[in-house]
Amino acid sequence: MLFLQKIYAMDPNAGKKDLINRYSREELEARLMAEDFKRVTVSFYRYVILDDPQAFRDQLYKEWTELNCLGRIYVAREGINAQMNVPEHNWETFVKQVHAKAELKDIPFKIAVEDDGKSFLKLVIKVRERVLADGLPDDAYDVTDVGHHMDAEEWNKAIEEGAVVVDMRNHYESEIGHFENAILPDSETFREELPEVLDKLKGKEDQKILLYCTGGIRCEKTSAFLKHHGFKDVNQLHGGIIDYARQIKTKELPNKFHGKNFVFDERLGESISNEVISHCHQCGEPCDSHVNCANVACNLLFIQCSSCAEKYEKCCSEDCQEVVHLSPEEQKKLRAGKEVRKRFHSHRRWEEIHPETKN
Ligand SMILES: [Zn+2]
Ligand SMILES: [Zn+2]
Repeated sequence: MLFLQKIYAMDPNAGKKDLINRYSREELEARLMAEDFKRVTVSFYRYVILDDPQAFRDQLYKEWTELNCLGRIYVAREGINAQMNVPEHNWETFVKQVHAKAELKDIPFKIAVEDDGKSFLKLVIKVRERVLADGLPDDAYDVTDVGHHMDAEEWNKAIEEGAVVVDMRNHYESEIGHFENAILPDSETFREELPEVLDKLKGKEDQKILLYCTGGIRCEKTSAFLKHHGFKDVNQLHGGIIDYARQIKTKELPNKFHGKNFVFDERLGESISNEVISHCHQCGEPCDSHVNCANVACNLLFIQCSSCAEKYEKCCSEDCQEVVHLSPEEQKKLRAGKEVRKRFHSHRRWEEIHPETKN
């Protein structure tokens, strides 16, 4: 270890060769397609104090590379958040190794129901300031003072009894799928969402509040935040929508989630019910497929149906369509000096942009 630290001091990348990925996208895709085994798609998180996130990260990277795992994992001083897959034949070893770590002892795994195991091309483990950026200082509230965790059965019952349901995901996620009668914030980031939710729940401090998100990690923080602000009956869906989908299948419970669960990988969505509740942002036809605008300088994430994809050549607008017709050199010139950022469609729902289509 001492030896490695010495090398880092001279060149930050020296000696790290085996701790980062070095293959092209094409090579990785071809490799994945050629696999003759199945992968288990799993997600998990924990708020736990990690004294040395970088060392923790490097150890995980070493172990999970050996097990041929793929995915996206964030490690921070406040904990870990992982979305990944594991070859089926390595699953047992993986679970044993993870649970053997004091920091991750008995951590619950959430396994995705509908997945072909081809969602990740490589293993990326990043060290970050926070597992989940909330824009708040360390002492703003006690992250560990969380609400009551509900399983799917308890959750359904509370909804039937009229509890206040809040979707803690971003608007582009709730647009394609959400729980019945849920409050759907307009935010595009979690840090914008906390104050917005607090505002929307004003006066409801004594009511039963139900929080949900994709895997539970955002509700964990939100529940602590709401309790800090005087809410008395704060509850969250344990394991999020991912585990809810699993539970309603295995326990044969009624499904109160309509549409698709947006997930952060190449699939961009996992159907839970057969309904399509959103619309193409260009023509208004029922559609729930997110795409990124083909103009790389735009990169807008929006909903586009297949006929509009053809008509606009996978672009979000005629302006972007003009850009993709330029030569790569000309496009590069246009982009020069401009930062390409992750952007989302600002139009919330088709019905709100075009109220005349509401029936
Ligand atoms: Zn369309
Ligand atoms: Zn565009």
